[in-house]
Amino acid sequence: MKVIDKIKNRAATLISFEVLPPLKGKTIQSVFEHLDPLMAFNPAWINVTYHRSESSFKRRADGSFEKVELRKRPGTVGICAAIMNHYQVDAVPHLICGGFTQRETEDALIDLDFLGIDNVLVLRGDAAKNEGQFNPQPGGHHYAIDLLQQVGNMNKGIYLDEDIKNGGKTNFCMGVAGYPEKHFEAPNLEIDLQYLKAKVDAGADYIMTQMFFDNQKFFDFVEACRSIDITVPIIPGLKPITNKKQLTVLPRIFHIDIPTALSEAMLACKTDADCEQVGTEWLIEQSKELKRFGVPVLHYYTLGKPKVIANVVQQL
Ligand code: FAD
Repeated sequence: MKVIDKIKNRAATLISFEVLPPLKGKTIQSVFEHLDPLMAFNPAWINVTYHRSESSFKRRADGSFEKVELRKRPGTVGICAAIMNHYQVDAVPHLICGGFTQRETEDALIDLDFLGIDNVLVLRGDAAKNEGQFNPQPGGHHYAIDLLQQVGNMNKGIYLDEDIKNGGKTNFCMGVAGYPEKHFEAPNLEIDLQYLKAKVDAGADYIMTQMFFDNQKFFDFVEACRSIDITVPIIPGLKPITNKKQLTVLPRIFHIDIPTALSEAMLACKTDADCEQVGTEWLIEQSKELKRFGVPVLHYYTLGKPKVIANVVQQL
């Protein structure tokens, strides 16, 4: 079932979770072990992230180096099918432009359609690790909106190969990303919001946000979206902070601020368990306030912390 229909038909605030594909070499069992403690909360769907390959250098026997491309976390499409089969819950694969040609993306979309998966979260992806800025794959897309248009075309039966006449129409519900604290490359929030509006005008059904730790930033973001006629549902993305290292790592990677009250409380902790407790309590309060605000869904990035997320959702 489509995310947008679940949102329209909801009787209460929905819960959804997000997982990463395991590192290559691990089994699907590791995904199930991660999700098992969370399934008791009846999630409306499970998101599965998408990852490009990364290049690294391997030493040859003669001492020289060879550049190799390795996709460390493949399997998004298969994991979505496995989750749906194992738990009878909808899965939402992410799709990215970076590292993929339009043809590879078309084939992934055909696989998803054949598997009965009718949701995608459409993203650009970040720059490759060894590149300072995002460069599209030759034959790939530059921005999320371009990928969104490809999915929209397939929903109309239009494929890349112009020889395909009367192509089968897919039926994907499309989500896109939004940034309450601005995407780091955008010159300012106003311009970032104009590009977000362009994605919605191009057919995005809902917005899912980057993580944030200060609800006021989310409330302001929603107000700013509504003021420029972005009317689609906006789903807050939420993540627990569980250790002191994250106080510097999360702002560096995700370009978000940690509120002073949270950072001070974390820095005052004596043990890792204390840190986890502080982060859990913060997320519980954040979630309760967002629920009162009337968000349609609380979406949790579970990344390695399913028990913390279970503790949070238990309290709602
Ligand atoms: P876009 O919407 O394309 O925007 C990228 C930047 O370009 C922004 O600064 C925007 O303002 C600007 N821009 C947009 N359109 C134009 C235009 N026409 N001209 C000029 N500038 C423009 N990454 C992964 O690799 N895998 C994942 O699974 C994944 N999941 C994510 C889930 C969520 C909810 C979020 C918030 C992010 C996720 N990311 C993921 C990270 C995401 O790929 C990065 O944040 C990426 O840098 C931007 O993606 P986007 O879809 O927002 O890009």
